[in-house]
Amino acid sequence: MTFKELGLSDNLLKAIAEKGYTKPSTIQEKAIPLVLKGKDLLASAQTGTGKTAGFTLPILQLLAETRHPKYRPIRALILTPTRELAAQIYDNIREYSKHLDIRTTVIFGGVKPKKQIDSIRRGIDILVATPGRLIDLESQNKLSLNRVDYLVLDEADRMLDMGFQRDINKILALLPKKRQNLLFSATFSKEIKKLANGFLHHPVMVEAEPENSTVEKIIQKAYRTDKSKKTALIIKLISDGNWQQVLVFTRTKHGANRLCKKMISKGIKAAAIHGNKSQAARTKALAGFKDSTVRVLVATDIAARGLDIPLLPHVINYELPNIAEDYVHRIGRTGRAGANGEAISLVSSDEVAYLKAIEKLLKQKLISTVIEGYEPSEITPDNEKPKTKEQKLDEQRQRQQRRKNRLAKPNAKKEKGQYSKSNKSRNRNKSHKKR
Ligand code: ADP
Ligand code: MG
Repeated sequence: MTFKELGLSDNLLKAIAEKGYTKPSTIQEKAIPLVLKGKDLLASAQTGTGKTAGFTLPILQLLAETRHPKYRPIRALILTPTRELAAQIYDNIREYSKHLDIRTTVIFGGVKPKKQIDSIRRGIDILVATPGRLIDLESQNKLSLNRVDYLVLDEADRMLDMGFQRDINKILALLPKKRQNLLFSATFSKEIKKLANGFLHHPVMVEAEPENSTVEKIIQKAYRTDKSKKTALIIKLISDGNWQQVLVFTRTKHGANRLCKKMISKGIKAAAIHGNKSQAARTKALAGFKDSTVRVLVATDIAARGLDIPLLPHVINYELPNIAEDYVHRIGRTGRAGANGEAISLVSSDEVAYLKAIEKLLKQKLISTVIEGYEPSEITPDNEKPKTKEQKLDEQRQRQQRRKNRLAKPNAKKEKGQYSKSNKSRNRNKSHKKR
């Protein structure tokens, strides 16, 4: 299959060739003809599958075919969860539309709105936006969305995770009823299905696996260690291996800052990227990482989501994510473009449960080892330690006691189950706030 066979115009084919793409990716092959036909899409595609081109190329074509010669209302709206992702999509559209008379602007929070407002005022066809800034400018009458023909929700699952549900609803209410909708999400949770049912019109389902399935091409290792030894261990790994481009994930913003400072103090050029950093600092860190002036990029899950970081040989989980799916997103940054990659996780004893959840999701066990001098002081998780006679007897006694309790109080088991469930969801919420 070629891009030409998908029905794209010469001006787009020229830009695609200049980008160096020789053939469409799976998601592009599936999505482009459907979008050109005017269908609504519900697409499941992870980062790195080429979905940006999958939706922008056909939208560009449709816009170019039907553009008013003088008048330029915003006709395509692309919503994304993070500033980096918005900037990246904008850059891509600029390249793909090089030979078309189509104007695009990107807006997001964290920077002064003046330039964004000025460029909207000059007339644009496509607006790429994060929800917050879009609602801000719309409520100040700096832009109007009543002529939007195409709506794209990119990384919709992450938008919901970040609490954008209400903002999305507000934005939907500002759009004309008749329009084409494209929704992209890495997962299809209950919430996503609900969102999709709320605004997609007879959507076609499209799915695409990452070009190189994570589980196969990436070497995944877990190093068991102690919390207190992690910083020294990660510095040792990076130095001994002489790794030059390493993406490191931490669970919290403060953790990212702390680790970054420590690395710098050891002479390793590092930068942190997370929600508390100014837009300028984040852009600078990412640019530095791409041009190799920054050797280690320390990121939280949300900040890293959707970033296009090419050719990444090493990803390290300084801490395991407490949501197993995030692990897959994290390690999906390595081994791209057919290259092999290595994903290393530093696992302390309090994280063993997270590791188990990840292995269950992946349906495979990670290679679990220790590095001499950095072993965990408490060896292996409790349930792998050979049990003493005493412990076995004790457990037996506990089991018997529990059985007795259940017989005495038939509801006891149910109550316990409910309690542990609500406790789990509380923890989950907490961890989201921290990021
Ligand atoms: P996603 O949005 O799924 O994360 P992107 O659209 O950002 O994926 O694409 C990931 C990378 O692959 C980018 O560097 C992009 O330029 C490149 N790419 C996209 N489509 C193709 C293609 N058909 N051939 C080669 N490279 C491509
Ligand atoms: Mg993308």
